[in-house]
Amino acid sequence: MSIDQIRQAILEGASGEEIAAIPLPEAYKAAVVRKEEVGIFEGLAHQDKDPRKSVHIDEVPLPELGPDEAYVAIMASAINYNTVWTSIFEPIPTFTFLERYGKLSESTKKHDQPYHVMGSDAAGVVLRVGEAVRRWKPGDRVTVHCNVVDLQDPEGHEDSMLDPQQRIWGFETNFGGLAEIALVKANALMPKPRHLTWEEAASCGLVNSTTYRMLVGENAARMRQGQVVLIWGAAGGLGGFACQYVLNGGGFPVAVVSSKEKAEILRSMGVEWIIDRKAEGFKFWDDAGEPNLSEFRRFGKTIRSMTGGVDPDIVFEHTGRDTFAASVFLAKRGGIVVTCASTSGYMHIYDNRYLWMNLKRIIGSHFANYNEAWEANRLVSLGKIHPILSKTYTLEETGQAAYEVHHNLHVGKIGILCLAPTEGLGIDDPALREKIGEENLTRFKGR
Ligand code: NAP
Repeated sequence: MSIDQIRQAILEGASGEEIAAIPLPEAYKAAVVRKEEVGIFEGLAHQDKDPRKSVHIDEVPLPELGPDEAYVAIMASAINYNTVWTSIFEPIPTFTFLERYGKLSESTKKHDQPYHVMGSDAAGVVLRVGEAVRRWKPGDRVTVHCNVVDLQDPEGHEDSMLDPQQRIWGFETNFGGLAEIALVKANALMPKPRHLTWEEAASCGLVNSTTYRMLVGENAARMRQGQVVLIWGAAGGLGGFACQYVLNGGGFPVAVVSSKEKAEILRSMGVEWIIDRKAEGFKFWDDAGEPNLSEFRRFGKTIRSMTGGVDPDIVFEHTGRDTFAASVFLAKRGGIVVTCASTSGYMHIYDNRYLWMNLKRIIGSHFANYNEAWEANRLVSLGKIHPILSKTYTLEETGQAAYEVHHNLHVGKIGILCLAPTEGLGIDDPALREKIGEENLTRFKGR
């Protein structure tokens, strides 16, 4: 009952005081995996582990609110690849993270549950804040930076991503965004971009911030004007933002995709140099499982034919084992391979001679600190970086949405409607939206 009241109040534009007066429900609906089911995919190949079997929509009790936390009514969320990892229990079941986190302090015990409410992206409205929260109040329209830090260790105070207790919300903690209500640290809230719908706003978060750190911020590749950036998975979650940052920053993206349709979307964004890896049939590994140098050279030649003979200053890596040896080979002398993931496998093999003899660097990057995420969100709010949302499902369809990401059947991002009854709601600044242009905001839609 009070969930419907909350939804209705938000849809009717209720004030913060009115929202704060609505009683909170004792339980809420959430997309979860269950601890008792972590063994259901044992013996199956990676591709055969099906999120539609492991993701359930359960009623879970509302957790206690900590002094530095907020309850957020979630209007929309989105699927991240970490939702896929959670739902197929790879590389390890996320219950391991919850158990570890539960042991950290009295206040984190609540995270260790036999269910895991997953989800690392969200847009919604603050319902209540804990007594130590000073920057946010009920009624604030927010997105979530999915980082959890308490900064009690000295190491995190220059860059919170170096905090030894840093965790990803909704992946390494419980009570995430694929739900009607979420529990969020107040130092992870950010203002919702006013010109976006709930689902567009929710879909930017994690991948936008990660890409910002990898390419723009002080902590990773620090791209400069004129640089050539090779972007794997350029029409995927990270890649769709990477193309925008490179274009905005005066760089030249070389975008790798696996279909004509994806190439066409990127072309409409202004990306000129695109390689369709499937159409060109690149085979980076020979039948004996060794790196195939002649194919690396063919790929490099294709890049040079586009760039006028210039090799990539930066390679934007997240695809992992299948591409990493090629990435190291393809980066220019003195260039950078910046990596944040290993979708195709995390045990990489590459020929180290190409690295050291050519003075190349590999930079590991992980998510983003609050400041980087805030900047990335500010660029979205200013209409300089746009969402790449292609499709939206309901909360009940979370398993199907995760299945599509797992099987690379999607383009850009997939959104999830939580309390929002339909797509298209939540726009607070239609004039800015009109100025930015609907075509820029919905380029990926329906793909
Ligand atoms: P995504 O939306 O699935 O996009 C990944 C893209 O990679 C796909 O669109 C696909 O593009 C390409 N790809 C997949 N397998 C490939 C292969 N074997 N060879 C070449 N290209 C391949 O996923 P995402 O949201 O961008 O996330 C990508 C990875 O980064 C995931 O592993 C995720 O867990 C990780 N990640 C890490 C962080 C972090 O903070 N460390 C943050 C975000 C994401 P084409 O088929 O069109 O080539």
